[in-house]
Amino acid sequence: MLITKERRPAIRTLRGWAIDVLQEAGAIHECQEHGWAKDRTDPHARVRAFEIARRDPPAGISSECAIAELRDMLDSIGDTCPECSAEQ
Ligand SMILES: [Zn+2]
Repeated sequence: MLITKERRPAIRTLRGWAIDVLQEAGAIHECQEHGWAKDRTDPHARVRAFEIARRDPPAGISSECAIAELRDMLDSIGDTCPECSAEQ
């Protein structure tokens, strides 16, 4: 019998999932030098990210929780890399 591995590993962390979704939607990007996540402050990208959370929340997580996690994540991410701004 052929077993395909369609499903992503169910539990990374909800945080890791949120970062993936925000990156996929283009709402955040990583500093090339330091790897910090930066908010792109793009409202359309945020809408896309919330859309993904609504349609496809992680296994075992309600879409409400998934959306709340995205909000928390966006609140905690600044629009500049802390290390880049420290160097200026
Ligand atoms: Zn940086």
